Amino acid sequence: MDLKQKLGAVKRSLLGRVKNHLARVHISSSVQKTTLTKTAHHAHVDLFRLGNGPQKILFLSGIHGNEVGTVKLNCQLLNHLTKHKKDFRDFSFFFIPCLNPDGYMEACRHPDYANGGRIGRLNAHGVDLNRNFPTKSFQMFSVWGHGKKYAEKTKVFCGRKGASERETKALLSLLHEEKIPTIFSFHNVAEDLCAARDPLSLELATDYAAKTGFTHMPHAEWLTLGQNGTLKDWCEENHVSFLEIEGSVKATRWGSDWGRQKKALLSALAKIRAAGYNAAT
Ligand SMILES: [Zn+2]
Repeated sequence: MDLKQKLGAVKRSLLGRVKNHLARVHISSSVQKTTLTKTAHHAHVDLFRLGNGPQKILFLSGIHGNEVGTVKLNCQLLNHLTKHKKDFRDFSFFFIPCLNPDGYMEACRHPDYANGGRIGRLNAHGVDLNRNFPTKSFQMFSVWGHGKKYAEKTKVFCGRKGASERETKALLSLLHEEKIPTIFSFHNVAEDLCAARDPLSLELATDYAAKTGFTHMPHAEWLTLGQNGTLKDWCEENHVSFLEIEGSVKATRWGSDWGRQKKALLSALAKIRAAGYNAAT
């Protein structure tokens, strides 16, 4: 690395630290918190639960630990819904702000975008958790598309088998126990979204795209990305409504993107309410 490259890394590192600090979010302490599981590095995967209504929704983020801003987005949503909980008595909200805390902490320790900002994407076992679901499509290796129009492809390890990782296992236990019928999964930063193919998911995707300006990627196009063992696949196979959202470029990997996605999220809740209760089977 020459001097210019070194100075660039120092600049990105400082900027990353500042952006991460400025965008920090604290969770309201009144919210019920439990530990979903502990990771290989003994970090807690926190689960927050709000409300006791019949309509259950899970908001999931930090499945890729380097997508730090998604954790903040989920926390801001949690704080907002806590503040306005009287308006949402018919819901039970589940929040997992960071499914991959080992990766997340690694990403925060490397704010210089070393290795293209990829550090922290995988869990402590080097597994891409969003390829570790026990689906028909599961394979030990898959691809991660990134860069402009996902043109760059990187091979990723998906685990020895579906749900080999404790983070995935714990998430699946929660979904089975609570029969949660709807999941929002937050990623960054490609400004697009994909959905399961049930009518509610597609309705939510259309509305979310309209409210945010993000591109709704049709299933046929999503298939060309060549991903295996994803949460989207699992949701389709298990009749769970699902929306995966890639946040704004402007928010960078550090910012919450709450300003851009708040309206769309609240609109989605109104649509789920209008659709009626739908316990997962
Ligand atoms: Zn991601």
